[in-house]
Amino acid sequence: MIRLEGITKSFGSLQVLRGIDLEIKKGEVVSIVGPSGAGKTTLLQIMGTLDMPDSGSVTIDGTLVNCLKEKELSAFRNKHIGFVFQFHQLLPEFTALENVMIPAFIAGMGQQEARAAAAEILDFMGLAERASHKPNELSGGEKQRVAVARALINHPAVVLADEPSGSLDTHNKEELHQLFFDLRNRLGQTFVIVTHDEGLAQITDRTIHLKDGEVCKE
Ligand code: ADP
Repeated sequence: MIRLEGITKSFGSLQVLRGIDLEIKKGEVVSIVGPSGAGKTTLLQIMGTLDMPDSGSVTIDGTLVNCLKEKELSAFRNKHIGFVFQFHQLLPEFTALENVMIPAFIAGMGQQEARAAAAEILDFMGLAERASHKPNELSGGEKQRVAVARALINHPAVVLADEPSGSLDTHNKEELHQLFFDLRNRLGQTFVIVTHDEGLAQITDRTIHLKDGEVCKE
């Protein structure tokens, strides 16, 4: 599902990634761990086509993304990749349902269809009764689950999450982690999760350890 070959990336004189080769299979739930500054977020951004490597190739779901032009790239990203960040990044003026609809709109879905798809996915996550609430009326755990629903609305093959449970308490954290596995089991999505949470790293199918821009142990 994801293949990275020879990925390098520098910011000015700082070399952040030093030749990363990785392969992640369809339906795997993989964690990326490592000390702060190891390059985890940079690697995730490159996997998500939000940033380009200096050298090396990125293939997602059979498409070599390095070759895509900016417009094709953003369409590819919106269709194939869902993102979940540490802070939910929901738009405060919109309801949960409307927030979830946004990527579907961007993908060209009509309003009624997007509304129905968003309602279905919120229902799937046990959030049907919260659909008309705005973010400030939702708990931290609910907001993060709405953010996951938004990431899934276009049925992306890959979901990339950067410290998704970093701002949650233990109960909500465990519920969110369980949700990733439920989604993988029911929808077959591939999850790549950057985390400091050892509990989560222990239960993922595989853990990639990053140190000083290199994979040091798998
Ligand atoms: P991690 O997620 O493992 O903490 P990051 O990938 O966020 O590591 O960052 C790796 C290094 O790259 C850090 O030293 C960070 O300051 C630097 N860095 C990340 N993004 C940028 C950027 N856009 N410009 C300059 N330096 C950056």
